[in-house]
Amino acid sequence: MKIPGDKSVPIVCLILSIFLGLIAWLLFNINESSATSTEISLSSILERPQPEIVISDEAKLEIENFRILLVPGHDDENHGAEFLDNENLIKESDFNLNVTNELLNILEKDKQIETFITRTENGYTKEFLDYFETEKESILEFKKESDKKSKFLKDDPIEEVHQNKVPAEVSFKLHGINKWANENEIDLVVHAHFNEYPRKDENTEGDYSGFSIYIPKEGFKNNPESAKFAENIRDYLNDVFPETNAPVESDVVIQDSDLIAIGAHNSLNSPSVLVEYGFIYEPKFRGGNSEQVFKSLATQTYLGIKKTLFDF
Ligand SMILES: [Zn+2]
Repeated sequence: MKIPGDKSVPIVCLILSIFLGLIAWLLFNINESSATSTEISLSSILERPQPEIVISDEAKLEIENFRILLVPGHDDENHGAEFLDNENLIKESDFNLNVTNELLNILEKDKQIETFITRTENGYTKEFLDYFETEKESILEFKKESDKKSKFLKDDPIEEVHQNKVPAEVSFKLHGINKWANENEIDLVVHAHFNEYPRKDENTEGDYSGFSIYIPKEGFKNNPESAKFAENIRDYLNDVFPETNAPVESDVVIQDSDLIAIGAHNSLNSPSVLVEYGFIYEPKFRGGNSEQVFKSLATQTYLGIKKTLFDF
């Protein structure tokens, strides 16, 4: 009997070992390739250029910028308070511009803030002139809505210290500015004014001096932020300037429900303050150092704005 194994055993072994070797090689390769492919896919994800996120200019504005509206009180037609200084008639509307122009200079250097202003030495800016013209009907409607609400807010326990009777034209413009601020999602509104009070001879210096700040009444939608904003401006202003000593303004930050500028009858969304920077007859606002005084009023207001926006 032939033993069949003598020659065929090495051949079977050879085939088996080739087969096993092949399997080992395959397994090794599978492992290696899966490891390599993991590496490749991870690194390719990490190194793959990220899809570019396109942000529209409008959205960019919301992410990067705050929007401030400066309103130098009154205008060339209605110039507000006045004071005769040696035959030189001082108009409040000019003083208000002195502050807002300085403030605009500072704010324009701040890349995080976009600033709008309602008027300059040349009158209302084109933006607002156009708005008053094209939105006339809707502004009148906005005003009507605001006046309607006033009927429900008459039980006002806070003494109204401000003269609220304003000519129709002034009322129209202020309502227009508020409507514009609502539509343009303004973060903070600053109205600049100088004070006066009724007295016998309004061309002599009065008894009162110092600044005060008017804010919308408690319960109004823009009251909480306006109150914070006003306290911040107050903190910085009183580092340099005295607070008002007029008895009716003893709170310094005073709530008002009827002042159109800060959103009479809950009509303004944006936090808003009306700063009376001092009394128009105060000597520091005229003469040699007055430019520095206006600059300083603007700088302290700017610090109050920054603190409100960035909460440092
Ligand atoms: Zn005024």
